[in-house]
Formats: sequence, structure tokens, C-alpha cells
Amino acid sequence: MKKIAYFLPLLAIAATEPPKTDPAKLSAMTKELSSDPFGGRAPGTEGEKKTIDWAIARFKALGLQPGGPDGSWTQKVPLIHTRLADGPVSFGGTQLRQGTDVALTTVRPDPTVAIENAPLVFVGYGVEAPEAKWDDFKGLDLKGKVAVFLVNDPDFEAPEGVDAKGRFGDKRMTYYGRWTYKYEEAARRGAIGALIVHDTAGAGYPWSTANASNGENYDIVRGPEDQRIALQGWLSGEAATKLFAAESMDLTALRFQARSAAFKPVPLKARFTAKLPVTVERIESANVLAKIPGRVKPDETVQFAAHWDAYGEGPPDAQGRTIRPGANDDALGVAGVMELARLFKTGPAPERTLVFALWTAEERGLLGSEWYATRPTSPLEKTAANLTLDILQTAGLAKDVILVGAGQSSLEDMLTDAAAKQGRTITPEEASERGLFYRADHFSVVRRGVPALQLMALGGASDMREGGRAAGQKWLDGYMACYHKTCDAWTPDWDFTGPAQDVDLFHAMGRRLSKAGVWPEWRPASEFRAIRAESAAERK
Ligand SMILES: [Zn+2]
Repeated sequence: MKKIAYFLPLLAIAATEPPKTDPAKLSAMTKELSSDPFGGRAPGTEGEKKTIDWAIARFKALGLQPGGPDGSWTQKVPLIHTRLADGPVSFGGTQLRQGTDVALTTVRPDPTVAIENAPLVFVGYGVEAPEAKWDDFKGLDLKGKVAVFLVNDPDFEAPEGVDAKGRFGDKRMTYYGRWTYKYEEAARRGAIGALIVHDTAGAGYPWSTANASNGENYDIVRGPEDQRIALQGWLSGEAATKLFAAESMDLTALRFQARSAAFKPVPLKARFTAKLPVTVERIESANVLAKIPGRVKPDETVQFAAHWDAYGEGPPDAQGRTIRPGANDDALGVAGVMELARLFKTGPAPERTLVFALWTAEERGLLGSEWYATRPTSPLEKTAANLTLDILQTAGLAKDVILVGAGQSSLEDMLTDAAAKQGRTITPEEASERGLFYRADHFSVVRRGVPALQLMALGGASDMREGGRAAGQKWLDGYMACYHKTCDAWTPDWDFTGPAQDVDLFHAMGRRLSKAGVWPEWRPASEFRAIRAESAAERK
């Protein structure tokens, strides 16, 4: 009797214990997707076709249903690829050199960028944020003008005592600090061009990164009602200081003024001219979408996502390798989504519909997810959450989880609970001024109000079970040296127990979120709370 009594509780545990992510499966899928035949999975290449066929075959084998439009496994995503050729660019009387003074691109499908003697106006940080009671524009019409912005948001580097202090998450970057926001704001106000003054601290990366586009850019194909500005890009800090000085304007003093709520845009006397030929190429690409239908509330969804694309081929490295296989970024994320699909398919039918999304063209500017977010196959108002996998640490089991974008939503509480069950704690990301929260695919639905959480190991060094924080830092340094390069390649040295632990976190969170009536919420200070609130009635 005693023996039976001893065994019963164990059996009870075994019956309710959820299935676990298999590190060997993660490893095998990552290895395959990042192998040479996939060619670095660039959109519009043979590698795309192979990747999409691979993903559909897997989803089918797991018994999922198509999640795309009209019962399809894919959602077509038309893209444009633009390349600026050389031509004159002048600011006042000064000729600007592409790559040195400016890093310019266009996302308009026109044969030429032609801007002649456009008025220039300095708009400070260029932020209109009702929840922070902030408006840099003061009703200014930017029609036909070129706007000059500062990077980051007004309280980045703001000392105590100035208006901006603490209104935009302090050092943490908010969406208002991102270049994407500034270009969109310029377009909304009718500007013809936008220049952002680069500084390494504010941008989170050096000029070499800002300049890496080499005049090339990508976008989704947009309708006439949704056209972007004709010319966008970075103005080097050095060039900006000189150009403003030539106008008897002091950029340092303007920076101080821009931290005041009373700031008003400052028109420049100089005019801006650019005449640059553009090559435009169209690329037909696609997202892959699969689902497990909900049995109680099929119109409510939970989204698990990763991006299937990587950087394709580039110039040869020291060993002559040209393929940038994106093994961790984000073949491993795709493998993680596949494991989540397998685990949920193994378990009881969910109350809500679970959507498994593999986006295209994340590396080209979150474009596949952007296309989806403007043409969702499940309504965003009833998408309870998006959980995104994009780069996981492959050094083994960790004692903590790095949280990117701390302070945004109640999904963080769910993550904390799930982590605690694994004996892990939460560590907020390092250097939150880099704005990693705004730099992966979940952001396309975030800006339309859907609460989201991303696991992204770039956020900081993990506290490893073996070797502690130092071991985590060693992994991070090693990975950063290969980020977006030929050496982001699968090796037998990678320890997939770490990623498996992370995917299990999303499985645990997903099980809670799959229940009807569970609606994560944005925190009061979040810049996305207001937009979610607009559709609150849909979630009653
Ligand atoms: Zn990525």
C-alpha cells in the first residue's frame, strides 16, 4: 500500500505534464534551413521557394490547416527593391556626398528622385505624442518640404529639470525615437523628404551601420493613398553641425531647445535639391500561415511567429563563403514555431485559433509582417497576442530570461510566471535605448495595438547555469561577431537545450492565452495602449 501511495502523485504529475520542445528537432531543422541549398533564404530567390515548400510540407505533416487567404498556405507579398544611382544632392550651397555626409534611399517606385529647391525645416525630435502631452510640430504643414529630425526621443539624454525628462521612458527608446516613426510622420504631414541627424548614442549604432544600405531599400508595394516620402536617410552628425553653422545655427543649442515642450520647428534659409536616378525591381514574395482552429472562439487568435528570410548571398568572407545562412537569425525561430505547432497539435484542441506565421522580408524592414498587419487573415482586434522568436542563445540552459521592451504589457507577467516554473528569473535587456522592441516583426502588429512579446537574445548576456553571466556574455560577443554575416551558421557546438527552454516558455504562455477571455493589456505608460483601447468593444 505504501508503495502505491508513493507512486500515485507521480502518475498524476505525468498525466498533466505538457510535452516538451525537443532540442534535437530544433537543431536538425535549423541545420537544414541554413544549409547551402537554401542559399541564405533571400526573398525572391530559389532559396525562398525551397523554404516555403519546406515549411508547408512540415505544417501539413503536423496536421495543421492552411492559415492564409482563401484556404491557402501562403499570403503573397509584393515587394519593391530600389537602388539610388549617383547624382547631385545639395543643402544650401553645399554638395553632399552619399555615404559620407548622407546615407540616402527611397521607397518610392519612381524612376527619379527629383527635389528642387525645397524648403528645409528643423523639427527637433519630430514627435507628436498625445499621451506624453508633446507636439513638436505645432500644426506645421510639411507639404513639399524636407524635414530635418534628431534621432531618438526627446528625453534621451535629457537632464533633470527639462520638460522632456521622463516623458518618453527616460533612456529607453520609445517608438517616437525610431527612424521608421519619423519617416512616417514626415509622410503623414506631406513632406517630400526627411533627413535624420545621426549620432551613435542616439541611433544605437555607428555611421557604418546607418550607411550600410548603400543607396538600396525595400518596401511593400503601396497604393497611391499610402505613398512614402520621395527621399529619406541619415545626415551625418559632422555634416549637420557644419550645415547648421553655415546658417548661423548651433545644433547643440537646438538639441537643448528640442527637449522643451515649447519647442517650435525652425525653418532654415538653405534649400534642398536632389536629382537621383532610381532602379526599381519588383519581387514576388510570400508569408507562410498555418493554424489550429479554436473549438470555442475560433475568431479569437493567438499568433506565434518568426521570419523565414535571411540575407542571401553577399561578398565573400575570409574563407570565401558568400551565403549568409541566418542559422540563428531566424532559421532557429522558424524551427521554434514548428516545435510550438507540434506541441499544440499534441495537446488538447485550443479554445482559440492558434496561428503559426512565418514572415518574409523581416531583414528588409519588417515587410512581410507589415503586409499581414494591413491585410490580416484574422482580425487584429481579436488577436490576443503575438509571440515572436528571433535569435535565441545557443550556449545551454540559463537561470534567467532576457526581457526586451520591459514595461510594455501584461505579457511580461505571463512570461515571469512561465519562467518561474522553469526556475528562471527575468532580467531586463541591457541598453534599452537601442530600441530592440521596435526592431522585429512583432512590431508590425504592435503598432496596430496587438500586445506582443519577443524573445531576442541580443537583449543582453544570459546568466548561464554553467559559467553564469560571464558565459552568457561570451556567447553574446561571439554571436554579435556573426550577426547578419556568413558565420551565423549551424555548428555541432551549439547547445539547443537553451532554445528549447525558451520555446517551452512560449508553449506555456500560449496554453494560457489559448483560453477564451484572456486578453493581455498594455501598461498605462505604453505608447500602444490608446490604439488598442479603440477596439475594446470587440473584446467584450
Ligand atoms: Zn531576425
